[in-house]
Amino acid sequence: MTFKHAEKFPPAPRSIWREVGEETWNDWRWQQQNRLKSLADFERVIYLTDAEKQAFLHCNEKFKIAVTPYYASLISPIDLHCPIRLQAIPSPLELNTSLSEKEDPLTEEAQSPVSGIVHRYPDRVLLYTNHNCAVYCRFCTRKRKVGNPASMPDRDEEDEAIAYIAEHREIRDVIVSGGDPLSLSNNRLERLLGKIHAIPHVEIIRVGTRNPVTLPQRIDDELAEILARFRPVFVMTHFNHPRECTAEAYRACRKLIDKGISIFNQSVILKGVNDSAETIKQLNQRLLLMQVKPYYLYQCDEVFGAAHFRTSLEECLEILRGLQGWTSGLAVPRLVVDLPDGGGKVCLEPNFLGKEADDFIFRNYRGERFYCK
Ligand SMILES: *Cc1c(COP(=O)(O)O)cnc(C)c1O
Ligand code: SF4
Repeated sequence: MTFKHAEKFPPAPRSIWREVGEETWNDWRWQQQNRLKSLADFERVIYLTDAEKQAFLHCNEKFKIAVTPYYASLISPIDLHCPIRLQAIPSPLELNTSLSEKEDPLTEEAQSPVSGIVHRYPDRVLLYTNHNCAVYCRFCTRKRKVGNPASMPDRDEEDEAIAYIAEHREIRDVIVSGGDPLSLSNNRLERLLGKIHAIPHVEIIRVGTRNPVTLPQRIDDELAEILARFRPVFVMTHFNHPRECTAEAYRACRKLIDKGISIFNQSVILKGVNDSAETIKQLNQRLLLMQVKPYYLYQCDEVFGAAHFRTSLEECLEILRGLQGWTSGLAVPRLVVDLPDGGGKVCLEPNFLGKEADDFIFRNYRGERFYCK
């Protein structure tokens, strides 16, 4: 049983791994173990400029570098502006830091009642599980913790976090996050989800993972079955570009969908990667083919070493204007700004222009103005 248009999802090009057997390529442990980390590893696969080589050595100290063979094979070997390359390979621009950039741009630490929990909103919490990701995205908001082994909660801290959720009856939604929760072993993940699921007032669990994009092989039947045991489960993933929608990603999403797990996507608008309405529209239409719902579209946070990815709010709004009304509402996410200093998320609306006396002023997708009460 396949969905319509499955053939529109091409398999990863495999690059230097063309000789690797089908079974090995689709084995997530092999992908995990063979991640590219050193300069020499990357030079086997793509061309790096001298400036990039220099940057590579310095960036490694500030924010870990690792890329799965799968994700690396999506990088164009010749295009220095390839959208996959820009997300995964450090740029010399990462070393420029400005005063407005921060270690902890959303002030998560200040809203952390116990280690591993961020409790910012009334009825839901974020649970930090570990510091490992299959690929370290160069624009990551949580750089201060991700990749740093000291940030990984130990058993006691995990128990304390679970106890916090159990004691706070107002918490009905737990967002299991990291790093990447799918970096945990199946046993560890199952135990953790089991403990959360067992708390009577917790209604839903979200699992925030970029593995469908960076290590889709990780989502095999065994994992899908584990997640399905704790339904309602929502997988929150992070596709940023239509080129990430491959046959491998498609298979991963289908395994979850077939087990009754809904998938939502959160993209970040990144300069030079996906900062056009056309790219985001293509991405979101492809996500719908996989039955993944585009949920949020974020402006890139003011995290250190990511200024070169940031677009203005006006540019973000312009992208949304190119979506709303022009394509299925299902393909239109909400445009979200995560306010600095822990202010939380707010939505920017492209059609509402403000109020004049008692009138609400709207602009429709064709640019026509309307006044409504
Ligand atoms: C984003 C976020 C959430 C979830 O927000 P929703 O709008 O419900 O998706 C919860 N807690 C924290 C700390 C967050 O940053
Ligand atoms: S997968 Fe998420 S947490 Fe991990 S490096 Fe990328 S953006 Fe950061």
